[in-house]
Amino acid sequence: MTPEKAASETYDIIVIGTGMGAGVIAGDLFDTNSRLGSGAKSVLVIEKGGLPFHSHCLNAARPSGFGEDRGQQNDTFFALFKENYQFKDPNQSKEWKGGPMFNLGGRGAAWGLFAPRIHDDHLRKEFGNTLYQQLVSNWYKEAENLMDLFLPMTNAIHQNIMERLNIKTEAECQWQWGRIASEFSESKNFDFAVGAYSPIDKLLEIAMSKDRTPDGACIEHPNWKILINTDVRSIMRDDDNRATGVVVRDASGNETKIFLKQDLSGQPLADTKIVLGAGSVGSPAILMRSGMATDLKQNDGLHLTDHDIFARSFTFRYLDPSVREKVGSMKLQSYVRLKSDTIALVNMAVDSSSFLPRDFLPTQFFTNEDFPKLIVAHILPTSLNTKNTIELDDDGEPVITAGRDPPFSNSNPDVVELRELTKAAIRTVKDALQLELRPTDPDDTNDWDDDNFFKPLELGGVAHELGTIPLKGSDPQRRYLLDENLKLRLCEGIYVCDLSIFPFSPEVNPTLTLVALALRLSRAILPRTPFVASTENTIYVMNQTGDPIKVFVSNRAGVTLTQEEINENKNGKVLGPGEKVARERSVGVDETVMVYRLDYNSRDVYLPRPVPYIATPGRVCIIE
Ligand SMILES: Cc1cc2nc3c(=O)[nH]c(=O)nc-3n(C[C@H](O)[C@H](O)[C@H](O)COP(=O)(O)OP(=O)(O)OC[C@H]3O[C@@H](n4cnc5c(N)ncnc54)[C@H](O)[C@@H]3O)c2cc1C
Repeated sequence: MTPEKAASETYDIIVIGTGMGAGVIAGDLFDTNSRLGSGAKSVLVIEKGGLPFHSHCLNAARPSGFGEDRGQQNDTFFALFKENYQFKDPNQSKEWKGGPMFNLGGRGAAWGLFAPRIHDDHLRKEFGNTLYQQLVSNWYKEAENLMDLFLPMTNAIHQNIMERLNIKTEAECQWQWGRIASEFSESKNFDFAVGAYSPIDKLLEIAMSKDRTPDGACIEHPNWKILINTDVRSIMRDDDNRATGVVVRDASGNETKIFLKQDLSGQPLADTKIVLGAGSVGSPAILMRSGMATDLKQNDGLHLTDHDIFARSFTFRYLDPSVREKVGSMKLQSYVRLKSDTIALVNMAVDSSSFLPRDFLPTQFFTNEDFPKLIVAHILPTSLNTKNTIELDDDGEPVITAGRDPPFSNSNPDVVELRELTKAAIRTVKDALQLELRPTDPDDTNDWDDDNFFKPLELGGVAHELGTIPLKGSDPQRRYLLDENLKLRLCEGIYVCDLSIFPFSPEVNPTLTLVALALRLSRAILPRTPFVASTENTIYVMNQTGDPIKVFVSNRAGVTLTQEEINENKNGKVLGPGEKVARERSVGVDETVMVYRLDYNSRDVYLPRPVPYIATPGRVCIIE
């Protein structure tokens, strides 16, 4: 597919980017379309990069760790495939390790899979009560299902360590397994584990499931298309300040205009949308190139911010080497409320350094690969750094000012408190597992309490920089750019969904929250349960199976059936994909919907036995 070919059609929804925000939305919109039949919307996805990864990098061959550890190596891929940000002050680049990855899936191809939720207190305070309620009651769970959230089996040794840590840590810690977004094993026979989550798999599955003509040419999906290697330069707007489409540039530098659907007078249709998900720097750059730079500045946008992540690592040996096999790898987490009332996330990796930054480890200990590692890493939340900003250079490319403010300090009271907690936790694990730290086992006479106890991770080191197009939080004094539905206030028809939307930098890795918000946005711009003017005494049945089905609705309520329903009931009511039927019944009386699905390889013969569903008057009963 080329930009010129894409421009020969118009679209209901244009999605920009395929990272953890936009990529999740692009895949979810395809699924929604397949349930809606003739109600499907036409979607165009545009990705700047190509296809270096067919899945998350951890599902592919990778360096074996060079004898260092049971290494995960996703950060090796990040280092190799990322580009560097352009800094206004070149000195700031020294403190930065991150940068964008332009490829299908964005940085979702190399992320570290650690998927904690934001603590309730921060979520409510910073995102506002409505978003807090919706995330906790629904969207976090949806995101965790999508991402195959994994919690390991707990045996007695693991339970003992967690209990010892909970008892011995003075601050109120509740240690639990770290939450990892990967299916490590599949319990069903001969089903392959899907492995580390990234949005790439779904997008490729869609691309590979296209039909072909008899001579082998691909037939595009009627309502879902993707352009790769295509850079979105700007969003076009009409005189009413409504998005009309995008200007894209292909790899040869040619520019093409691609439009949203229009009415007969050439105006964009009312419910057409652009979803912008080009990342914390890419998305504001597109808006700035679209003439919105001043609005972004005036509404507290562009403050690219990363939180402090800092860690202490040790190499150790088990006094009884056979214990190592019994314990295996452990990755634990706990929230901790500090005296300042700040909530931090504490992470501990025992012999599973793969899930935490490995370059905290002193290289001289790598000579013997058999020594396991013990790492304690902390994340502190921070508000958006108003000294940081983004400008455009003469070519329209972003130039960033992004430092750490205040600088990381081991004497910061929160950090000092976390140092004591770390020491207590390490002693506890040492005792519980009978470990000896190498080369020297710290004790009361041996001062491990030096001024450089923790080393901070460089900014952007795990790509958590965010906050450049913040959503409306709960603080009425704070300026913002997106309403709580992630709709841009500056212009009609634009939604944003990537890390730029965060109104603060949380105490946790941000991706799970982003994916939860992405699913929420996807279902809002293209609902799976369409709004029906619901009459309380009516049952609505909608077919979202993607195939025709035949339905009968029971009549426990004993209403007098219309002649139309009597006729339709002779052979059952056939519903095509996306179609629905309404049946008048009685308020408060649930009915059974008998659903007959198509027989094998048939378009009109239905299986003899139905599948029963329960339908409640006043609601839509979705058959999926
Ligand atoms: C090494 C590493 C470890 C990490 N570990 C974790 C972890 O354990 N837990 C966690 O929560 N997070 C982790 N992250 C962070 C996680 O990867 C990010 O939170 C997430 O990828 C951000 O998604 P996004 O959608 O904001 O942006 P991105 O993933 O950066 O996606 C942006 C997309 O937009 C595309 N794009 C950019 N400009 C344009 C344009 N002009 N036109 C069209 N397309 C464009 C890009 O190519 C890309 O596909 C890690 C990241 C890295 C690199």
